[in-house]
Amino acid sequence: MDRFADARAGARTYDLDGLRERVLTERGGQVDESIPQLAAADPDLCAIALVLAEGTVRASAQAEVAVSVQSAVKPFLFALALLDTGGAALERVGIEPTGESFDAIKLEAGTGRPPNPMVNAGALLTASLVHGADVAARGERIVAGLSAFAGQDLRVDEDVARSEHLLGDRNHALAHLMRAEGTLEVSADDAVAVYARACAVLVDARALAVMGATLACAGRNPLSGEQVVPASVARDVVSVMATCGVYDGSGRWMRSVGVAGKSSVSGGIVLSAPGVLGAAVISPPLDEQGTSVRGRAACEALSADLGLHVFASHSA
Ligand code: GLU
Repeated sequence: MDRFADARAGARTYDLDGLRERVLTERGGQVDESIPQLAAADPDLCAIALVLAEGTVRASAQAEVAVSVQSAVKPFLFALALLDTGGAALERVGIEPTGESFDAIKLEAGTGRPPNPMVNAGALLTASLVHGADVAARGERIVAGLSAFAGQDLRVDEDVARSEHLLGDRNHALAHLMRAEGTLEVSADDAVAVYARACAVLVDARALAVMGATLACAGRNPLSGEQVVPASVARDVVSVMATCGVYDGSGRWMRSVGVAGKSSVSGGIVLSAPGVLGAAVISPPLDEQGTSVRGRAACEALSADLGLHVFASHSA
C-alpha cells in the first residue's frame, strides 16, 4: 500500500500562494550579515515550490527570485563526493549529528574527520573529493553536477564567491585544522575556494525544489529523467540530511517537520520526501540556528497539511 498517495494528491492542488501569504505575516528573525551580499537580502522575499515525484511542478509567487544556495548545497556536495569516490567518501567524513553550530571549529574525536557532511568542515571536505585536477576544474564539475540535480544550467554569483572566499575566516580555520589532522588532501585555500564557489551558486525556489525532488526520486531527476546519482547515494544523502541537516536544530526539526531538510544562511530550505516530492522555501530572515523563520513555518504547515511526517502513524 502506498501510504503517501494522499500526500501526492494533496500536493497537486495545495494553495501555495495562500501558505505564502500566511507565513509572510511572520516578522521574526534576522537576515544573515556574514557577507555584504547576504546582508543586502530582501527580508520580505518569500517563495515556495513543490516538485512531485511524477514531475508536476507547483510554485508560489517569487519562485523565480534567485539567491545564493549557501548551505543548501551541502547534501548535493555529499552526493557528488559519494559518486566520484565510489562511496569511499563515507570513510573520510562522519555521519553523526553534532549538536553544534554550522561552523563549529571541531572535528571528530579520535579520527580528525569532519563530524558530518552537513556542517562546514564536512562540506569543505566533500567539495574537495569531487573530481577535478584543480580549483577551476572541481568548481566546474560541481556546477555541472548541481545543474543536473536542478535540471537546468545553474551559474555562480562571482561576487558572492569572492566574498565567501575572502571573509570565511572560520572556513579557513577548519580547512587548516583538517590539514593538520591529515584529513584534507588539497591545500586549505583550494578547499575554501571550491566550497565558496559551491555556496555561491544561484538557485530559485523552483530549482531548489527540483534538486530536492531528484534526491526524493532515488537520484533520478523527475523533470529531465537523468539518473544523476545512484539510488544508494540518494538514500545515504537523505538519511544524513534527516539527522544532521538543521545543525543543532536537527532534533527539533525532525519532530516538528518530520521530513529531511537542509537549511542555509541565505534563507533557503530544501526538503526531500522520498517517493513523494521535493520542496523548497526561500525567505532570508533566520532564527538563532540559522534556519529561515518563514521557511520553518512553511515546512511545518506543508508537512502537517499533506501528511508528510515520516514518523506519523496513518493507521489510527
Ligand atoms: N557560506 C556559509 C558558510 O560557510 C554557509 C553557511 C550556511 O548556509 O549555513 O559560512
